[in-house]
Order: sequence, then C-alpha cells, then structure tokens
Amino acid sequence: MILENIEKVRQNIEAACKKSGRNPEEITLIAVSKTKPYTDIEEALPSGILDYGENKVQELSEKYDILPKDIRWHMIGHLQRNKVKYLVGKVSLIHSVDSLRLANQIETEFAKKDMIANVLIEVNMAEEESKFGISAGDTLELIKAMSILPHLRIQGLMTIAPYTDNPETNREYFSKMKKLSVDIREKNIDNVNMNVLSMGMTGDYQVAIEEGATMIRVGTGIFGERNYNI
Ligand SMILES: *Cc1c(COP(=O)(O)O)cnc(C)c1O
Repeated sequence: MILENIEKVRQNIEAACKKSGRNPEEITLIAVSKTKPYTDIEEALPSGILDYGENKVQELSEKYDILPKDIRWHMIGHLQRNKVKYLVGKVSLIHSVDSLRLANQIETEFAKKDMIANVLIEVNMAEEESKFGISAGDTLELIKAMSILPHLRIQGLMTIAPYTDNPETNREYFSKMKKLSVDIREKNIDNVNMNVLSMGMTGDYQVAIEEGATMIRVGTGIFGERNYNI
C-alpha cells in the first residue's frame, strides 16, 4: 500500500510539473513519518525515498537509531530550545526556525560538536494565530540577524498553509512565499541561500509545486491517516 501511494504521489508531482513547466527533479519529496512505526519507513525505502519528516525530537532520534544511516531526517515540527542538543549529528534539515533565540541555541549546540546546521525559516504566511512561524514582514530582519551565526546555513523558507478542503485557496500563500524568497535572494546576504522552498502537504502539494515549491512534505498521502490515540 505504501509503495503504491508513493507511486501515486510521484505521478501527481509529474503532472503538476508538466502543468507549470517545471522539472520533477527540482522537487524533493519528504515522506512525513510522524506517529508511524519505523517499519512503515522500512516498507517505503524500496521506493528510493531517503527523506523523512518528523515533528518530535524524541521520535526522530529513536527512528534514527534503528534505521539505515543514509536516511536524511527533516525536523518539520515546532522545536523547543532545550531539545536542540538531541538533533546534532542526526538531522539533515531543520524546517522550523522562527526566532533568533532558537537560532542562537542551534548555533551553540552545533558549535560544540563543530557541525553545521542546515535550516529553513518558518513563515506564517497566512498569519494564523494557531501557527508557529515568523510573519512575512519580519523574515528579512531575522535572516539578517541569523546570517552571522557561523554554524548555521540558511537554505530557504518553509510554510504550513491553512488546512483546507480546496487547495486553490492556498495558492496565494504559496505564491507570496515564492515572491518572498526571490526578494530575499536578491539581497545577496552572505551565508544565506534561498534554494529551498518547503511547502505543500497531502491536501495541497500540487498547487504548491505549481507556485514554486522545491520540497513537499507528504504524510497522509503516503502512510495513511494518523492515529493520535495510540
Ligand atoms: C504532519 C505534517 C505534514 C504532513 O501532513 P499531511 O497532511 O499528512 O501530508 C507536513 N508538514 C508538517 C509541518 C507537518 O507537521
């Protein structure tokens, strides 16, 4: 079932790329495995997917210990500063940096091991009160402040669009994200890349791709519904 789902997602990625004149090789599919057992990831591995997303440090860490070391782990959930130390050496990309305090903590913990942290800035583009992330208007200032931290590499931006039954309603947020990343890239800030645009989930990844996503984060569409009661 999981491999069939992945095949379906890949076909949808191709369709969205065709529609928007993009190359599917520009898109990294992150399989969001949060709440799912590590055996589900083992089932997914023959697809060739090596990028997996988790939203809890402890769960990421446990799966990291068990599973093959060539897996690239993505921290996509809200990150507490006291948990940062457990990610060092394990995480490939942290998608959810939204404050200078958190960035400073990442700098401190990665510096201790002389390692570089690849990070994205999480932007709350729809200004939803319930969501983490920095406002679009404050993003450039945060990036400038973070750009001097030697153990951080800013690789781009991430957003979680509002939950919706109609992905078209999120198109404007995705297109504003793309524009924001282009605007920031044009500032040519030292130590700052804007190569990654992480946006689009099961309900809206095709629209996100059409608007410029380079990473999509798909959970339910690959592993099925999550059960939070177990
Ligand atoms: C859970 C989660 C996803 C995946 O959501 P689905 O709708 O199941 O595809 C993507 N991004 C983040 C940040 C998440 O927490």
